[in-house]
Amino acid sequence: MIDIAIIGAGPGGLTASIYGARSGLKTVVFEKNFSGGQMVVTSGIENFPGFIDISGSDLAIKMDEQARKLGVEFVNSEIKKITKENDKFLLETSKDIYEAKNIILALGASPRKLGLENEKRLTGSGVSYCATCDGAFYKGATVAVIGGGNTALEDAEYLSRICKKVYIIHRRAEFRADKVLQDRVFKLENVEVVTNSVTEDICGKFEVEKLKLKNVETNDIKELDVSGVFVAVGILPNSSLVKDLVDLDNAGYIKTDAAMCTSIKGIYAIGDVRNTNLRQVITACADGAIAVHTITTNG
Ligand code: NAP
Repeated sequence: MIDIAIIGAGPGGLTASIYGARSGLKTVVFEKNFSGGQMVVTSGIENFPGFIDISGSDLAIKMDEQARKLGVEFVNSEIKKITKENDKFLLETSKDIYEAKNIILALGASPRKLGLENEKRLTGSGVSYCATCDGAFYKGATVAVIGGGNTALEDAEYLSRICKKVYIIHRRAEFRADKVLQDRVFKLENVEVVTNSVTEDICGKFEVEKLKLKNVETNDIKELDVSGVFVAVGILPNSSLVKDLVDLDNAGYIKTDAAMCTSIKGIYAIGDVRNTNLRQVITACADGAIAVHTITTNG
């Protein structure tokens, strides 16, 4: 019997696993891909104390190593179903069924799409949701980043080092991104900011060729010649696995209290998948520590 089954090996899940193992509990992390979650596709992290500037993948490797060194077990499988059976939970992969006393849902989030037909058709042919994964394909090219949050501006900063020109397209005049990031990115010579503009269409026969924008104040249509479009318009919670098990809010985030408890006793949720005001590496880590503390004190 597993004491703590953690689903998801992002920073929150890995931190929870470190706390679980250090509490002497049998702790197993289930991850369908690789450790690190969204952090792995972040070019640089400069707001995690102790690391002045570290790539997301390097920080993920360090957290993964720390967890393994402390005796955390990892199962490289997707959990397809969770059921409650008396005072334990059954976690099903396509091959096995695991029994656990407690579950920590560290399911993370995925990029939100614009919802355009051509966005779907041209994904992988000029449309990308990951600048650090695909940026290198656009060396010397002109690209656009859509969005006004931290991800969009970090993507634009990263791409400005590779591409000839980077447009930032944002639907409002004010940006959500941290001020320090705005100050840095807006003064880059090869970055041009286009505000109050929404993307009407992404055009191109086989690959992205143009972006069609509408100014929301004047209704003017403008076309930009770009060969890459990086969509960074926020995230959606990966909560579908548990949508019929625990309570979600209207946006699909898992409802928790301050102790990370969900609506089902023995199931906890942490990080980007839960209803929280701040979604950062450090807050996901803190959630992980709190969830295990709740298990060890109340469990
Ligand atoms: P976000 O902060 O939710 O920003 C999404 C941006 O996309 C907003 O500017 C939003 O515009 C825009 N947007 C949303 N839907 C749109 C649509 N349909 N069409 C056009 N624009 C649209 O998302 P994020 O940047 O992905 O960040 C997600 C979370 O991770 C945030 O909590 C963020 O702080 C965190 N994060 C932190 C760091 C860091 O600390 N270094 C780095 C990356 C991400 P409006 O502003 O008009 O709503």
